[in-house]
Amino acid sequence: MRGMKVLLIEDDAAIAGAIVDSLEAVSWAVVHEQTGHAGLARIQEGNWDVILLDLGLPDMDGIEVARQARTSQTVPIIVISARGDETDRVLALELGADDYLVKPFGMRELLARIRAVHRRWNQAGQAPQETALTIGDLTVDPRARRAHVTGVEMMLTPKEFDVLYYLALDPGTVHRRETILADVWDMNWYGSTKTLDAHVAALRKKLGNPGWIESVRGVGFRLQAPQ
Ligand code: CA
Repeated sequence: MRGMKVLLIEDDAAIAGAIVDSLEAVSWAVVHEQTGHAGLARIQEGNWDVILLDLGLPDMDGIEVARQARTSQTVPIIVISARGDETDRVLALELGADDYLVKPFGMRELLARIRAVHRRWNQAGQAPQETALTIGDLTVDPRARRAHVTGVEMMLTPKEFDVLYYLALDPGTVHRRETILADVWDMNWYGSTKTLDAHVAALRKKLGNPGWIESVRGVGFRLQAPQ
């Protein structure tokens, strides 16, 4: 998963600021709009991974924003609202919101919800289309959960396989440590990167050439066929 592109529609500056900071800390791109109309205009631009939508907006009800968004765009919507009563919740979900978070909420909770919604959408949208990946002499088959290098099967632990497959999905690209941890281990980015380092070290050994996985200092890792 690449960094996500998030649209935040929220008129409260303090809440919006905290959310923007948290999302940018995990290298996601955030665009912030303060009104329903500005938000809807942004939604029409398309290409969002998720929309975070406040219900109490100055110019219109967020529920109406969700309803209009649904008529034209297929994008996950998470409602963030101080309104916790059942009626709002049911209405928002019926009108097309995918999740509903009642303020105040923690930023870790928000990140987890965004990832979960995003994952559900991707799984629903592009069913079991997983095919084996080939990079140079390396093949990684997600259905069989097996990997071969120069024709020899690699003996991998489940997490080693997950890390290898994750990197192989987008070879040549540097993946941030925090993102790999978050996506492969499904935990927040405060997690220990030692765990990741240990898995990468094991993978390098099993790949038979450390050149397969390059460390980019201070950033993360990149998988590519060794020169
Ligand atoms: Ca508000």
